[in-house]
Amino acid sequence: MTNNYYPFFNLPLPYDYSALLPFIDEKTMELHHDRHLQTYINNLNATLADYPQLQELSLVQLIQNAYRLPEPLQTNIRNNAGGVYNHRFFFHGMIPPGSSDNLPQRNLAQEIDRQFGSFAAFRESFQKSALSVFGSGYAWLVVCRGQLMIITTANQNSPLAQNLCPILTIDVWEHAYYLKHYNLRTDYIDDWFHVINWQAAEKNYLACMHARA
Ligand code: MN
Repeated sequence: MTNNYYPFFNLPLPYDYSALLPFIDEKTMELHHDRHLQTYINNLNATLADYPQLQELSLVQLIQNAYRLPEPLQTNIRNNAGGVYNHRFFFHGMIPPGSSDNLPQRNLAQEIDRQFGSFAAFRESFQKSALSVFGSGYAWLVVCRGQLMIITTANQNSPLAQNLCPILTIDVWEHAYYLKHYNLRTDYIDDWFHVINWQAAEKNYLACMHARA
C-alpha cells in the first residue's frame, strides 16, 4: 500500500464498489470507503497538521507509538490512524468472488491446518470471534511470536499497537453490513468468507514471518 505518510488521502479501492456482489452490496462499499474511511483520513490529517514532529512518522509508526502521547492526543491518534490503517487493511483483504479458489494458500494453508486442525475448524473459531465482538470492532488473524492467533479489537484499535502482525481482518462495525444484512452479523460473516483475498493473506503471512527472522 502506498501513501504511508502525512498528508493521507483516500486511495481508490482495488476493485469496483459492486465487485463484491452478491456478498457485499455496492452502496455499503461506497459509503464505507468514500465516507467512513474518508472521515478517518480527514480527522487524522487535521490532527497531524498541528504536530509537525508526528508528520515524520508513518501510519504504522503512529499506531505503534500512540501510547507515548499525552491524552487526548493519544486517543485521537489511536482512533484515527487506526481507522485509516484498519480500513485499508480490510478493503485490501477482499477480492471479487470467483477470482480465486477462495481457500488459504500454500504456507498459510499449511499453518492453519497445523494449528487449527483444519480449515473448517479455523473458520468456525474465526466466526465465533467475529460474532463475539460486543459493539464495534474487528476480528483478526494475526501472527504472535511466530504462531497464528485469532483476536478481536474494539473500536479502531489495531493489533499493531500490541506488536501483533495482521494477516486478515473483518470489520464488524454495523456500518460494514447493516444496509444488506441488517442486524444479522452471522450472515455477513458467512458472506465475507466468499470474498476473502487469500492471496493477500498469504503475502501478509510471509511478511509477518520474515519480519520475525
Ligand atoms: Mn468500517
